[in-house]
Amino acid sequence: MSGLFGVISSTDCTQHLFYGTDYHSHLGTEVAGLAVLGDHFQHRIHSIANTQFKSRFADEMRKMVGASGIGVISDSNPQPFLVSSRIGDFALATAGLITNIDELAGELLDSGHSFAEFAFGRINPTELVAKIISCGSSIVDGIEKVFEKIEGSVSMLVLTREGIYAARDFHGRTPLVIGSSGNAWAVASESCAFPNLGYKVVKYLKPGEIIQLTSSGPRSQNKDGRACQICSFLWIYTGYPASSYEGVSVETVRERCGALLARKDTVEADLAAGVPDSGTGHAVGYAMQSRLPLRRPLVKYTSGYGRSYTPPSQETRDLVAKMKLIPIRDIIDGKKIILCEDSIVRGTQLKNLTIQKLWDNGATEVHMRAACPPLMFPCKFALSTRSLSELAARRAIRDLEGSDVSDVSSYTDPKSPDFKTMVEWIRKDLNVTSLDYLTIDEIVEAIGLPRESLCTHCWLGD
Ligand code: SF4
Repeated sequence: MSGLFGVISSTDCTQHLFYGTDYHSHLGTEVAGLAVLGDHFQHRIHSIANTQFKSRFADEMRKMVGASGIGVISDSNPQPFLVSSRIGDFALATAGLITNIDELAGELLDSGHSFAEFAFGRINPTELVAKIISCGSSIVDGIEKVFEKIEGSVSMLVLTREGIYAARDFHGRTPLVIGSSGNAWAVASESCAFPNLGYKVVKYLKPGEIIQLTSSGPRSQNKDGRACQICSFLWIYTGYPASSYEGVSVETVRERCGALLARKDTVEADLAAGVPDSGTGHAVGYAMQSRLPLRRPLVKYTSGYGRSYTPPSQETRDLVAKMKLIPIRDIIDGKKIILCEDSIVRGTQLKNLTIQKLWDNGATEVHMRAACPPLMFPCKFALSTRSLSELAARRAIRDLEGSDVSDVSSYTDPKSPDFKTMVEWIRKDLNVTSLDYLTIDEIVEAIGLPRESLCTHCWLGD
């Protein structure tokens, strides 16, 4: 994933740019970058794989001066990208996933363009977007061309001498929000970047909307009205608890998810807990609804580990994950535990590094509750981190059917016998006493937006 932040003001903006970008650190662990426009463009990109954004960029920021700037935290590619083109100089940062990148790159190469960068052995998607924008008659026309051509989703910030252009992807899968503070204006992927910097939410961009942000405020550059398909998973897992999208708070949705899990539960337990940190909001909602005590049988030891600390090998990563979560035997021993988690992706870390610690410390029952249905499809629009074969639900289906199957519709219907058989397979695999999931209808109820405005591809492949 990636997170974007931009700011424009009548005075120097760099302190707000620094902290505003840092508030997107949960969205990426590989690369971060900043571009600032003063007398000229200044631009820094660094790896954050082994260090936090704050410590990596603190010295750099003191050398950058300007009234407007953009920042990005990314899992995928070095950016912002600086471009000098016939429609002007600009810096570009993008968030999203382009699934037809090879086809589009081929078209550009055939027409005489070349690419300067390979990110992780591939064409840098931000450079590709920059090339398409440069083919337009203006920045706005270039962004419209990007929306026409790409499959997947791209939201972006374009820093120019005429202000910052903010564009939300065509189907609105990744959000962008505008905030104001006196003479300063900001745009962010996550609204949690605003309160401590003194910004108030002014507007959520609509799908495909392009806004030009100057120190006088935002001006819409195109007609909106496209259908929204915002990512539901933002509320379930990827978004930050203190953010809101489309005016709907992440933390309150997580509490409603937990309450819905509790509402249909018949299990008698001693306590409710969340898998730290992603299951915490769901567990709060579960405890409020069920009136079970909310307790912390597992706590996360993060001191000494940077938030973005990514050890070099898988073996070391597993070891670090194991070391971070510490069980508290006094709370676990002899207890029947409801354990809430946002979702079950692969299930291996959950089983080996979380659930097993509860058994090892004397739990008598562990009831796993997931705040969304079994994940069935990799994301084609925003997250590039899961593959079909590693999903726990797909492993179950492969084992039950004897091979991979293309039509999984009977496994996505929570009332079908196949769904129940699959859940039982995953329950045994996770080694828990019982396992239950929220349904799509319940997720939609928890988010509170019309179903047709939400992307549910993760679960239904629709
Ligand atoms: S497929 Fe899943 S993660 Fe991707 S945009 Fe849709 S809901 Fe979000």
